[in-house]
Amino acid sequence: MLTLSSAAESILQSEIRVMSVECEKVHGINLAQGVCDTEVPTPVRAAAWHAMEYGLNSYTRLDGIPLLRNAIAKHVLEHNGITADPETEVIVTSGATGAFYCACLALLNEGDEVIVFEPYYDYHVNTLESLKLKPVYLQLEPPNWSFSVDELERVTTRRTRAIVVNTPANPCGKVFGLSELEKIAAWAEANDTFILTDEIYEHFVYDHHRHISPGSLPAMRERTVTISGFSKVFSVTGWRVGYMVVAPQWATAIGYYHDLVYICAPAPLQMGCAAGLDELGPSFYNSLRDEYDRKRHLICDALNAAGLTAYEPQGAYYVLADSSRLPGATSKQKAMYLLEQTGVASVPGESCYQGRGGENLLRFCFAKKDYDLQQACKRLAKLKL
Ligand code: PLP
Repeated sequence: MLTLSSAAESILQSEIRVMSVECEKVHGINLAQGVCDTEVPTPVRAAAWHAMEYGLNSYTRLDGIPLLRNAIAKHVLEHNGITADPETEVIVTSGATGAFYCACLALLNEGDEVIVFEPYYDYHVNTLESLKLKPVYLQLEPPNWSFSVDELERVTTRRTRAIVVNTPANPCGKVFGLSELEKIAAWAEANDTFILTDEIYEHFVYDHHRHISPGSLPAMRERTVTISGFSKVFSVTGWRVGYMVVAPQWATAIGYYHDLVYICAPAPLQMGCAAGLDELGPSFYNSLRDEYDRKRHLICDALNAAGLTAYEPQGAYYVLADSSRLPGATSKQKAMYLLEQTGVASVPGESCYQGRGGENLLRFCFAKKDYDLQQACKRLAKLKL
């Protein structure tokens, strides 16, 4: 008899996509998905177009074109405080998603335990599960999304092989501070584990918070896989270009897996991203942050006024809101109620938790054009609670 694989039996469509479909049905405003529909910077677009037009349309080296690897090495040195050899320690990947997948394939064994902070980004958990790795959860406590080292020790076992750090975090916006990262680093060293960091939102950091790469901490470089990408910073989620910085003893196998699954990231789009890194200076990153900070205030004010108390995010471009005042026993019911009443789609918090914790939370994405975000805020103002 033909059957699905045993792993496929538990794979579900992501709740983000489910809510996007529901949103489409009512022609609503989709604050569920982080599609990032802001402008693509001109140098990025122009260089990709030029590369396509002038024939850079074939496979590239499995770890990416030299121009982009060099630009990434320069960027991570200046921005993240990480020294990386572009020949042996930088891999251009098919998005941060491809980087995370290939790192897990190359570094972890079936049954290994991987610590994941809750609320989590569901792709991390689904990737681990699809590889028969075991996510072990550690809750971050609102409003600051702090964690306890005692709890981290308590969930650690002989099988713990890695921890996933997403900073700034999706969905709660947490930006891990230096003392927190030092605690994680000390724990990782004591337990001899990898640190898989997803830093895709590193340029979206607000107020006094500062992005710190775990891989820049002393002695962490060897055990840390630093993952980032261009989807968010250049608003090119559909291009599928990301990267990782990783010690050479891990890079070769990870690169081979990347070759196996994706062959390479799209060639002309790599050129676009390289031009972006080379040509866009601090003023680009500062104005991007200011633009999103403005959007952050807009959505948080609208949510608070509507009675959905916002946990103001420190980074990234999502906000979790306490939706206990909405009717419904589950966050899915609350999200559906909100969609029916206002036409604004959000993501149920339960999709970011394994156990309890998310039932009163909804996630709103504010990576939207101003007009759409303003319309969403107007609709939220009509909510009667
Ligand atoms: N990592 C996190 C935490 C995300 O929120 C997302 C997208 O929402 C991604 C990775 C996807 O990145 P990429 O498009 O580079 O695969």
